Amino acid sequence: MEPADPDFDQEMLIQQLIDAVPCSQCGQSYEAHEVHVIAQDDDTWTLVAACSSCGVECLIRASMDEMNAGVQEPPDRDEVAAWGQFLAGFEGDLRGLIDDLI
Ligand SMILES: [Zn+2]
Repeated sequence: MEPADPDFDQEMLIQQLIDAVPCSQCGQSYEAHEVHVIAQDDDTWTLVAACSSCGVECLIRASMDEMNAGVQEPPDRDEVAAWGQFLAGFEGDLRGLIDDLI
């Protein structure tokens, strides 16, 4: 676990949002300074974005889970499949095996 850094998470979230969500009214991409977090509830963030192009404000609700999924590298399919097959066929002491690996 890395130490929580709310400021960093907030910047990351806003950057992800403006990359993914343009203004619903005119399609213009938001600038970072036009998006503000107004509420944070566990893993759900509520943001308001004010478009500098058309002046329309909109409310955006974002889940941190979805955001994290968007920024992480997808797992290697072969690696996942191999690990799944290994676990499916493994009947011994899993804890002992993990201790050995560490
Ligand atoms: Zn707009």
